[in-house]
Amino acid sequence: MSVYCDHNAGSPIRPEAAEAVVRAFAIGGNPSSVHARGRAARKLMEDAREQVATSVGASAENVIFTSGATEALHLALRAVRGVAQSLVLSAIEHDALWEEAPNVDLPRFVAPMNGDGAVDLAALEQILAEAPRPALVAVMLANNETGAVQPIARAATLVREAGGMLLVDAAQGLGRIPVSLADLDASYLVLSSHKIGGPQGAGALILASGAPFAITQGGGGQERGRRPGTENVPAIVGFGVAAELAARDDAARVRALRDRFEAALLKIEPNAAIFARDAVRLPNTSLFAIPGWRAETALIALDLEGVCASSGAACSSGKVRASRVLTAMGVSPDLARCALRVSFGWSSMEADVDAALNALTKLRAREAA
Ligand code: PLP
Repeated sequence: MSVYCDHNAGSPIRPEAAEAVVRAFAIGGNPSSVHARGRAARKLMEDAREQVATSVGASAENVIFTSGATEALHLALRAVRGVAQSLVLSAIEHDALWEEAPNVDLPRFVAPMNGDGAVDLAALEQILAEAPRPALVAVMLANNETGAVQPIARAATLVREAGGMLLVDAAQGLGRIPVSLADLDASYLVLSSHKIGGPQGAGALILASGAPFAITQGGGGQERGRRPGTENVPAIVGFGVAAELAARDDAARVRALRDRFEAALLKIEPNAAIFARDAVRLPNTSLFAIPGWRAETALIALDLEGVCASSGAACSSGKVRASRVLTAMGVSPDLARCALRVSFGWSSMEADVDAALNALTKLRAREAA
């Protein structure tokens, strides 16, 4: 059995969500069909819509189901077509948005970060003064690599004062910190099922009342015409159950596990750097680097010891690039290439933390020998 410390990549499916998925598969039916089976599928899907809406304090009719956070982010970029005159992104937005932004035909501005991994609000204010109005402004709720929680309420005030619209990627927020559409004061909120212990293949774009939504795709009229194509009912049903459970997760328990990990890590490796440690951070995430121990080597070694962790860097064709997020925080490329991430969640136990630490101790002793 492997020791799973990678909840930010994907949280294992919760048993209650898995059972709900299986029940939905057994019912089958297209939620757009008017017959009994179709109505049964629709009922399951609408119950899930309520569950997802409730988890963030939104109205069910403003929840648009998608295949995940990536599609929801892309949908938000299209929703402002004809309204937004510019696009402002924080420098640490997920690739799901970052790599799609150049495909949007709008002038683009990037808001820099401070050394703690939070968006620089003074710089954001300056950009908002210059960017053509109204701007669509994307600031994620919490970063997937560092766990740094962004000052969304203050960013929202700046965005509102500049007449803009705020897009908040909360894929890593739900289940780790409280998420409320009203408190965040966002026009668009994005969630992903598999980050919260639901199945892969479901997510949502959630609109605040009155948020612009340009219909840019034709199709069968599903999701009130806003996202055509037959909905993935089983995944959506599992997502609903996971959202309800995640909103009740015990963050203090998970924080204790993460803190136990970091305290022991610093005993094993007093030189380890823990990124965004003094920032407001998700309770489940630890991004650290042991100078000289490159992420690609470390991850393979940990995997051989049965520990599933992640790097803070993007791996492509076996080469690890320094993470864009750490670079934006001013971390040197050499240290950034050593960044490793462990992230815990609903299924994590003390035994997982201890097993990960034992593996680290063993591997570091071997390196030193
Ligand atoms: N946004 C953030 C912050 C993420 O961590 C992820 C997952 O990697 C995504 C978006 C993309 O989510 P999905 O896999 O649901 O498309």
